[in-house]
Amino acid sequence: RRAAARARAAEECRTADGTRIEVVANCGSAEDARVAAANGAEGCGLLRTELLFLERATAPDVTEQTAAYQSVADALAGKPVIVRLLDIGGDKPAPYLPIGPEENPALGLRGIRVGLAHPDILDDQLRAILAVRPLGQCRIMVPMVVGLDELRQVRAALDRVGGGDGVELGIMVETPAAAVTAAQLAREADFLSIGTNDLTQYALAMDRGNAAVAGALDGLHPAVLRLIEQTVAGGARHARWTGVCGGLASDPLAVPILVGLGVTELSVAPAAVADIKALVRDLDMVCARDHARAALDCAGAAEVRQLAREFAR
Ligand code: PEP
Ligand code: MG
Repeated sequence: RRAAARARAAEECRTADGTRIEVVANCGSAEDARVAAANGAEGCGLLRTELLFLERATAPDVTEQTAAYQSVADALAGKPVIVRLLDIGGDKPAPYLPIGPEENPALGLRGIRVGLAHPDILDDQLRAILAVRPLGQCRIMVPMVVGLDELRQVRAALDRVGGGDGVELGIMVETPAAAVTAAQLAREADFLSIGTNDLTQYALAMDRGNAAVAGALDGLHPAVLRLIEQTVAGGARHARWTGVCGGLASDPLAVPILVGLGVTELSVAPAAVADIKALVRDLDMVCARDHARAALDCAGAAEVRQLAREFAR
């Protein structure tokens, strides 16, 4: 089965009945991007740029950032690269970002809130992304969005630095606020990508870093699935695609449900690309939709997982 999956890894991915599902990879470095490409990734659905910013005295300058993003773009040979704007905060401190100690860092200055509070850092990152060639291979994704205002401020920053016309600008849906107002956000966002790690944490009110609740922190909770359903519906109202770049996209039990809910892009761990593609190729959309509907009606994550195991058989 593994060998069969590998043999078809480079082919584009469709369900058994022909629905196109893009399988791309989450990357943190050019090495990740090379592994992803070798495994058949159709691009990078989430470039975690924060790794470049941590554990140093000053922020990386435009030249250093451009080189890093260009190496990822090159490793993926023209395929789309979704660059997530800096997503650090109180829990991942950087000396040049004076964010004081916070009682609840997950609810504090993090994601795009940091970039909007430090426009110099945001502008430099945008300049670096726009310097990657070919222009347009890199798309821009805004983390931790809760409303249209933040997206508009990033668009204003793009106008300020110049040269970003025609570059796609999308959002991460990882707060319940963004999920339930997806239709409004999709009016101005080019795409929606659901960060199920944070979306689950915020929907279930369970800290993703707290071992005491880690066992119950499951993105297959029907509450999270309903937020995903709302996001897809909101995106579709404005003909925007919705992907998933959180850990749920790499979970074989979750993939049929996500596809059944109308998600058309899955951004997964680089080494998982071939297997997830193989799984999608076995799916029939009518069955996947029925399965997703049944999952939405379950009483909890354990019940959804049981249902998903039966579906897999
Ligand atoms: C997520 O929240 O699901 C996500 C992809 O981002 P991160 O795990 O980096 O917060
Ligand atoms: Mg996140």
